[in-house]
Amino acid sequence: RKFIFVTGGVMSGLGKGITAASTGRLLANAGFDVTAVKIDPYLNVDAGTMNPYQHGEVYVLKDGGEVDLDLGNYERFLDIDMTSDHNVTTGKVYREVIEKERAGDYLGRTVQIIPHITDDIKRRIREVAEGSDVCIIEVGGTVGDIEGMPYLEALRQFAHEEDEDDILFTHVTLVPYSKNGEQKTKPTQHSVKELRSIGLQPDILVGRCDDKLEADVKEKIALFCDVPTDAVFSNPDVADIYKVPLVVEDEGLDQYVMDALDLTDEALSADER
Ligand code: ADP
Repeated sequence: RKFIFVTGGVMSGLGKGITAASTGRLLANAGFDVTAVKIDPYLNVDAGTMNPYQHGEVYVLKDGGEVDLDLGNYERFLDIDMTSDHNVTTGKVYREVIEKERAGDYLGRTVQIIPHITDDIKRRIREVAEGSDVCIIEVGGTVGDIEGMPYLEALRQFAHEEDEDDILFTHVTLVPYSKNGEQKTKPTQHSVKELRSIGLQPDILVGRCDDKLEADVKEKIALFCDVPTDAVFSNPDVADIYKVPLVVEDEGLDQYVMDALDLTDEALSADER
């Protein structure tokens, strides 16, 4: 089974979820069973009680799960039905760990973020991934947020536990224009530095920009962030988000992902799942 982790840098609302869902759509088009997990690092157990003015409308799943709107993107892009297990929140994770602690399941041990919270995060991801070829895990928020730290640590451990060619880290960042019309890479460099300081090296960088990234901008990002130039992709503004899969396909994102994860043209055999 393959895991693609998608993190975001610089700011939220960048298009990380759409990039993740588009990657999934392209892999589904290539014949793979794709599923997704959305991690929301807030303490609410679910989005049901959250103010829609602050957070967008609540999306209700078939099992009654009240979740973030992003899950709707995944259901539509991937053409799958999700359950509330596909939305991991800090509230859900802590509630489970604290309930286990109260029930005495930890046999008197000190219950800690590492390993108990991180183990629960990893378990949830593995359970959702069960039975699919590829699981895309989007970490909500921005790298460097305090709330996101236990998740990034869990991902670091996850990568350590799995085979190297089963894991891919995609980092989505903002590439703004300067006043004199240049695409600037500094925010991307800083957010990758932040990611690396917690032990994660991205394999793929996706730059959200008004337009496609210029060739020399991609080279600069590659050099400073330590990835090959062909691992840097653009996700330019488009009028219709359902065009994003086509735009990133045009850049070769799907082929790069399949090569990096050693996914052959045929779907993985059942025993590899
Ligand atoms: P994040 O996951 O980074 O918070 P989302 O994927 O939810 O961001 O996207 C934030 C907003 O930007 C959404 O309204 C989405 O429709 C829009 N968006 C994402 N990608 C693009 C794009 N390439 N062009 C135009 N709008 C986009």
